[in-house]
Amino acid sequence: DKLLKEAKICLSNISALNRRLNALISVRPSESVLARLSEMTSTEPASPLAGKLFAFKDNFCTIDQPTSCASQMLQGYVSPFEATVLTRLYKIGHAIDVGRANMDEFAMGTDNVFSIYGPALNSLYSAPHSAGGSSGGSACAVSAGMCHFALGTDTGGSVRLPAAYCGVIGFKPSYGLVSRHGVIAFAQSLDTVGVLARDVPTVREVFNVISAHDPLDPTSLSNEVRQQLKRNTSRRHNERNGRYKIGIPLEFIVDSCSSDITNAWTIVLKKLLAQGHELYAVSMPEVKSALPTYYILSPSEAASNLSRYDGVRYGYRANVDRDATGVLYGVTRSHGFGSEVRRRILLGNYNLSSGAFKNHYIQAQKVRRKLQLAFDRVFSVDHPLEKPIKRDDQPTVDFLVTPCSTGTAPLLADVLSQKSPLDSYINDVLTVPASLAGIPAASIPWNTDDGKVVGIQVMGQYGDDDRVLDFSETLT
Ligand code: GLN
Repeated sequence: DKLLKEAKICLSNISALNRRLNALISVRPSESVLARLSEMTSTEPASPLAGKLFAFKDNFCTIDQPTSCASQMLQGYVSPFEATVLTRLYKIGHAIDVGRANMDEFAMGTDNVFSIYGPALNSLYSAPHSAGGSSGGSACAVSAGMCHFALGTDTGGSVRLPAAYCGVIGFKPSYGLVSRHGVIAFAQSLDTVGVLARDVPTVREVFNVISAHDPLDPTSLSNEVRQQLKRNTSRRHNERNGRYKIGIPLEFIVDSCSSDITNAWTIVLKKLLAQGHELYAVSMPEVKSALPTYYILSPSEAASNLSRYDGVRYGYRANVDRDATGVLYGVTRSHGFGSEVRRRILLGNYNLSSGAFKNHYIQAQKVRRKLQLAFDRVFSVDHPLEKPIKRDDQPTVDFLVTPCSTGTAPLLADVLSQKSPLDSYINDVLTVPASLAGIPAASIPWNTDDGKVVGIQVMGQYGDDDRVLDFSETLT
């Protein structure tokens, strides 16, 4: 009955708010949701997610609906297979979806403005504000109470940033824990399925259902490694007794941070100190190179991944054989992709071209490796998949606590009047380090005294996901 009541509230929020907020780009009819719910209560499946409602970003493949990545290129495309995470949520979690969530085209963006469906709006503000991107629809649907939780993807911050703007929890697990099978690729060495919800226990329940080995994803962690991670977690829980060493990485203090953000960060750190945790300033100079590294590697992978959209096998196809710009392939791709996606493809192909490859792509891979090692030196525990490394003199910590974004949600009008794409790229400066390192990171909403909401980011060692979630919960 409680579930039925909650479902009815979600459904009425969808019908009251979605037209304005544009969070969901396709909505499952209420009758269908309620019918599934009533089937469910009669069989009483044992899962904490049973009967909970969720939205999923439109880059998760389904078999009964189109999957468009908010692109003209995939209009009407229906996948022959279902994303493993959706299968797990339906079959093991017994959760019910309410529809597909808006996003930036092919998950490239930070404000959900690059979508053929138009922007998703932030439900916390009456004047149009950015919901964040690229999982803007997922964050908005959760914050507006349209569902209990949502799935997003985080390649360089796309779950954490919209979560921060919309005042919900956004969790990016360690790379390799959650299957990417059936998740349309943007940059596969970074793409990570993430969870958005209003409280940490719900995030944990979803994570427990979707974190599992999947033979269909070649980067999915094996069961043996997963067992090792579990043993590490329980040992560390006993050692620490709830008192943690918290690192403040100095390179995350950036000039572009607004005072709302730095003030909230300071207050959170003081609170942690008062709770008995130890704080340490740590330095990771490699973090300064994270943003340029991300904007070399992710477009390079994207250029390669998106080359499959050629107008021949599936998806959009221009209905002219040639125009002034070229022949079918080129015409299809320049009509089918939006401006930001085309920019990334150009950037990526340039980085992979023979003239630039060595100085850009290879160099960026080396910098990425150095950044990964910098995180390993800072965390007290070893990376479970790497040889133990020698740590230098600086203190080592359990978690790093930083802001998640440099500002609160911007006005949509300000986003739309940005002159350079770099204006939005710099918003990723605080989230891409964890993406390049593949480590777990969560954004936790923090309400300021003057009624604003800020996202505080918690990062932990690779595989320390459960402890990142437990610690994050103490910040709520
Ligand atoms: N804002 C970043 C980008 O545009 C991150 C996107 C993402 O994580 N999917 O590439």
